[in-house]
Amino acid sequence: MPSASPFQPDDLYCVYCHAQADGACATCQAIICAQCAVLTGGTVQLAAVCKTCAGQGRGAVGLRQWAPILLLLAAVLAGLLGVAYITSS
Ligand SMILES: [Zn+2]
Ligand SMILES: [Zn+2]
Repeated sequence: MPSASPFQPDDLYCVYCHAQADGACATCQAIICAQCAVLTGGTVQLAAVCKTCAGQGRGAVGLRQWAPILLLLAAVLAGLLGVAYITSS
């Protein structure tokens, strides 16, 4: 919880249904109850996220899966450019 916030509720309530919250969204830290939490993630690690993040989750997970491949491509490209630079000079 950011200490800068002057508003400190006595209890934490779900941002969706205002039931007593069970935890925070793993992605955006929104306070959510068990009913509104959506389990997401792969087989390795499950994470409870809010409905909003679950709706956007597919794209984010997809990007995360592609990130190493994109990094590898960037590295290969950089290597090729480096070789081209060395051989041309
Ligand atoms: Zn709820
Ligand atoms: Zn969230």
